[in-house]
Amino acid sequence: MATKDELNPKTTEYEFLGPVGAFLFVTALPLLVLFFSICCNATGYPSQSLFEDYKAYFSELLTVEMAKSLIDPIAIAIYLAFILILVIYSFALNGDVVPGTRLRNGKVLKYRMNGFRTFHNIFVFGGFLLYQYGSYEPLLFVYDHWVGIVVASILFSYLISLFVYLRSFKPDALLALGGNSGNALYDYMIGRELNPRIGDFDIKFFTELRPGLIGWVVLNVCFAVKQYHDLERITNSMGLVLFFHTFYVVDALWNEEACLTTMDVTTDGFGFMLAFGLYTWVPMLYTLQARYLVDFPRDMSYVELGLILALNFLGYFIFRSANSQKNAFRSDPESESVKHLKYLKTERGTKLIISSWWGMSRHINYLGDWLMALSWCLPCGFGSVVPYFYAIYFGILLIHRERRDDHQCRIKYGKDWDKYCSIVKARIIPGIY
Ligand code: NDP
Repeated sequence: MATKDELNPKTTEYEFLGPVGAFLFVTALPLLVLFFSICCNATGYPSQSLFEDYKAYFSELLTVEMAKSLIDPIAIAIYLAFILILVIYSFALNGDVVPGTRLRNGKVLKYRMNGFRTFHNIFVFGGFLLYQYGSYEPLLFVYDHWVGIVVASILFSYLISLFVYLRSFKPDALLALGGNSGNALYDYMIGRELNPRIGDFDIKFFTELRPGLIGWVVLNVCFAVKQYHDLERITNSMGLVLFFHTFYVVDALWNEEACLTTMDVTTDGFGFMLAFGLYTWVPMLYTLQARYLVDFPRDMSYVELGLILALNFLGYFIFRSANSQKNAFRSDPESESVKHLKYLKTERGTKLIISSWWGMSRHINYLGDWLMALSWCLPCGFGSVVPYFYAIYFGILLIHRERRDDHQCRIKYGKDWDKYCSIVKARIIPGIY
């Protein structure tokens, strides 16, 4: 039997610039989200007065009163209530119980797939409450208290990461190979324990698709309601953004099982990086386009609408087919849909696909994902670069993520990975990158 040190070896290599990067991560990124929430409003993205005289703008902004107003008790209560409802649903709703990948300690954890049920129950329950109340007006709270909601999510991200970091010191914890450096700040940021659980409640799996993705659609709906409240109608650009985002979220929740084979679940520990990403970054920044369209409503021509739709579905087709193909192949390489695929058998025992989608580039799924990201920004027009933040940042994230995965796979597969790279040469875009 492996000793504790053999099972949880020390992490000897840092990622993300080590402790310096971790410090920047836990300070600069929350500030960036705050910047977007405070400094973007109906006068401009960013606000017009910031361009006119940034010194005066910041000296007016950075006051004690302003700092106090960031803490909005009602927004905090609503945010916590939302997370609590998601937790209750994760226990209360049925769903297939699916095994995850085998862990280093030989264990296989089980996960209940009820994300999609949670999603539609939230809307049915919310719709019922609003119907009883007799008005959509409670939803306007989100736009009016936006900064308070953003701050609540940031505080929650810090606290949940601290909780899992402290719990990771319990004797039987299985640590992430990359999260056991001994540097507290770095391990806190990158995630120390691989699968923190309270009883059967898997914190990482819960966080992966629910608060971020379901929260994102809920917030989008609140912004659409605000636009309706202001204009007495919904513009086609708002409709399209809502449709794209909801489609992406429903698809991810419908295929919830697929997340069990992603790097987040199989490799990364649960720390501030994932917590902040999914409690704050995704819901608070991915809703930028819907929020922008409240402040700057616009309608698109039918040609524009058709082209953007086509770009989105091209991206989706690549993204979904490639991910499903890998999933189907990994679950059963002999199944009808994937048995024709060529593959490379590795010494590690697993097979790497080298034809079809996975023969075009080593992460063709990332290309599809990015094309979708771009199509979500285009309905906002070209009045500001801020609604394009998602496509810009996501491009950088995917390039970096591909490098990380490449590095991990080189460690996992050794010479087999070099051979695979010599067969499938492109990283993301066939023939280009
Ligand atoms: P992948 O789904 O591409 O998984 C990478 C892993 O798959 C590798 O570590 C390797 O693991 C296995 N693999 C790699 N090449 C092959 C091959 N040729 N044949 C079989 N298995 C292979 O990456 P991610 O987990 O990063 O991403 C999953 C999806 O999530 C992507 O579509 C991505 O775009 C999306 N995503 C979205 C984000 C967002 O914010 N919207 C953020 C990040 C990702 P092993 O061999 O050990 O099984």
